[in-house]
Amino acid sequence: MEHDLESEQMILDAVDKFLVKIKPSVRQLEADDEYPEEIVEQMKEMGLFGAVIDQEYGGLGLSVSTYAKIVEKIACVWMSLTGVFNSHLIMAMSVQRFGTEQQKRKWLPKFATGEVRGALALTEPNCGTDLQAVKTTAVLEGDEYVINGAKTWITNSLHGSCFALLVKTDPTAKPAHKGMSLFIAPKGEGFVMGNKLKKLGYKGIDTAEFFLEDYRLPKENLISLEEGHGLQHALGALALGRINVASRGIGVASAALNDSIEYSQQRKTFGKPICQHQAIQFYLADMATRVEAARLLVQSAATAFDKGERCDMEAGMAKLYATEAAMSNSAEALRIHGAYGYSTEFNVERYYRDAPLLAIGEGTNELQRIIIAKQLVEQNPI
Ligand SMILES: Cc1cc2nc3c(=O)[nH]c(=O)nc-3n(C[C@H](O)[C@H](O)[C@H](O)COP(=O)(O)OP(=O)(O)OC[C@H]3O[C@@H](n4cnc5c(N)ncnc54)[C@H](O)[C@@H]3O)c2cc1C
Repeated sequence: MEHDLESEQMILDAVDKFLVKIKPSVRQLEADDEYPEEIVEQMKEMGLFGAVIDQEYGGLGLSVSTYAKIVEKIACVWMSLTGVFNSHLIMAMSVQRFGTEQQKRKWLPKFATGEVRGALALTEPNCGTDLQAVKTTAVLEGDEYVINGAKTWITNSLHGSCFALLVKTDPTAKPAHKGMSLFIAPKGEGFVMGNKLKKLGYKGIDTAEFFLEDYRLPKENLISLEEGHGLQHALGALALGRINVASRGIGVASAALNDSIEYSQQRKTFGKPICQHQAIQFYLADMATRVEAARLLVQSAATAFDKGERCDMEAGMAKLYATEAAMSNSAEALRIHGAYGYSTEFNVERYYRDAPLLAIGEGTNELQRIIIAKQLVEQNPI
C-alpha cells in the first residue's frame, strides 16, 4: 500500500485534535466503566472503523504503518478506546483478505462506516490459546448452517452487532484445523447475549459471553465459501490485531514514561527533584529505551504487513516486546510516583491495570515466543 506521508500527517493531526478534546474526560469515563457512546460516534466520523479497509470498499485505506501510529496515540490517552475498533477491524480484515468479491462488496462498506460494528469471536470457556479445541459446531442443513456453542471474553459483543465467528464444521477432522471455518455472523435469532464480564482494567469497553442456540446462518456467510480454512483466516487477520496490540503497548508504555518524566521533575526529596537521583534516572532511561525499541519493532512488522509479506514472526516480536514494555514501564512509573502512583487521582494506576491485558490478548506472550521460535527454526534448517 502507498505510504503517503502528507495524508498520514493529516490523519495523525486530526487524531491529536480529537485526543486533546477527550483527554479531560477519560479518568471519569474509566471510573464509571460505561461505554463511551459519544467518543465512539466521533471515532466513527473520523473514519477509524474503516481505517485499514480499502478505499474501494469505503474505507480510509490507510497503511498498517499509519494505523499503528494512530493506535499508539490513542492508547497513550486511553487504551480502552483502541479496543473498540481493533477487533472490528480484525473481523473486517478477515473478509478483506479471504472473503469472496461478493462478500467484500456486501460487508466491507458497512464495516467501514461503522454502521455495522463488530468483533472477533474465537475464545470459548474451555479454550483460548488452543483454538483447535473449540467446541462450537456448524452443521449444514439445506442452504443454512445451524450453529450451537458458547463464546466468552468477546470484546464489543454487547455493543457490536456482527462477528467473525470461529466454529467446527467437521469436529472429527484430523488435524482439527482442517475442520474449522470462519463465518460472518450478525446477531439474530438463536444468538443469546450473556453477561458483561468484570475486569481488572480495560474499562468502558464491553467484554462479554454469548451463546449460540440453533442459530442459523446462510451458506453465503462462510468466509471464502470453503470449509476448513477458518483457523488460517482468523490467524491471517490476527496479524493486524497483534500489530494493534503492540501499538497499544507503546501507547501505554509511553504514557507511563511521559507522566514519570513530568512528575520526577516536580517531586523533590532530600533537597532536589527526584529526576536527579540516579535510581530514578535509570528507570527513566530504561523506560524510554523500551519505548523507542518497541516503536522500531512495530514499524518493521507493519511494513512487512503492508508489503503483503508473511509477518507472524515480526508481529509476534513486536507484540511480545511492546506489551512487556507496557508491563515494565507501568510498574516502574508506579514506583517513581510513590504513593501517588497508587492513587486513582493519577493515571499511573490505570496503566498498571491495563498493561496485563496486552500480554494476554491476541495470543499470549508465551504463545508469541513459541511462534517466534518455530519461525527461527523453519527459516534456519540444518
Ligand atoms: C479483556 C479481554 C478481552 C478479550 N477479548 C477477546 C475477543 O474479543 N475475542 C476473543 O476471541 N478472545 C478475547 N479474549 C480472550 C483471549 O484471547 C484469551 O484469553 C487468550 O487467547 C488466552 O486464552 P486463555 O485465557 O484461554 O488462556 P489459556 O489458553 O488457558 O492459557 C493459560 C496459560 O497457559 C499458557 N499456555 C497455553 N498454551 C501454552 C503452550 N502451548 N505453551 C506454553 N504456554 C501455554 C498461556 O500463555 C497462559 O499463560 C479476551 C481476553 C481478555 C482478558
